[in-house]
Amino acid sequence: MSAFAVSGRIAQRRKRIATVAATAAAVALAGGTVFTVSAYADDTRAQLSGGNWSTELTSAPKTPATTPVSTTNAVAASAVTASPVWAASQSAATAAQAKAAAQAKVQAAAAAKAKAEAAAKDAAQAKAVAASRAAERAKLAAAKAAAAAKAYVTPVAHPTISENFGVPGPWAAGYHTGTDFAVNVGTAVHAVTSGTVVSAGWQNAYGNTVVVHLSDGRYALYAHLSHIGVQAGQHVAKGAQLGKSGNTGNSTGPHLHFEIRTSNAYGAVVNPVTYLKQHGASL
Ligand SMILES: [Zn+2]
Repeated sequence: MSAFAVSGRIAQRRKRIATVAATAAAVALAGGTVFTVSAYADDTRAQLSGGNWSTELTSAPKTPATTPVSTTNAVAASAVTASPVWAASQSAATAAQAKAAAQAKVQAAAAAKAKAEAAAKDAAQAKAVAASRAAERAKLAAAKAAAAAKAYVTPVAHPTISENFGVPGPWAAGYHTGTDFAVNVGTAVHAVTSGTVVSAGWQNAYGNTVVVHLSDGRYALYAHLSHIGVQAGQHVAKGAQLGKSGNTGNSTGPHLHFEIRTSNAYGAVVNPVTYLKQHGASL
């Protein structure tokens, strides 16, 4: 056999080995049969040795001697990926990755659940706070409405004080026993709160006067009226018109003289403005 023929046979063998190695690697990668390529390579080399290998090598170039080695190395490398140990390690790695992924998934789910629970808790708290505030606002509004319902009104609209209570002067008591509101004659005079009229008529220095007994036991006196619109014994509601302001009796000009008495007697008086303010009147 010529050296050329030997080279041709070796080339064919190399091609077959490469094909087998590639197939083995492909099978191994596909997770199929574990294929011992190294044994096949040895067998191939044995077949090569079985012929006129030793004699023909003398005339053959170095290539055949080195090529099978490198081929064997390539096959051996392929064999690593095809070995049971490698496959097992790969399986273990895949399993570890899957486990880690599952754990991450569980942790993410737990975190999401905790976040949702926290959000729900916050929402519930916010709702409770809002409800509490709404209840508080409603309570305040109700209290305000109740206070407004109970609040006294001023005896005349837009009251302007022309003489304060308690000022020393030429009065019988030695001081001013009421508060004067400067109003034109004919201005409507209102009941500061509900009560019962105890007198409605002329009272000497007070001129035309209305006295109303209030629910708290006090008496409200409205003096110097030009007109009286109520009668003794009549119940009057808060804000009801009792008459019209004037300048009757001992009066130096048009005004309403207003008193709050603790009993229906001259001089038994308190500061009417203070009293009205204590009962919510705006002045
Ligand atoms: Zn007066």
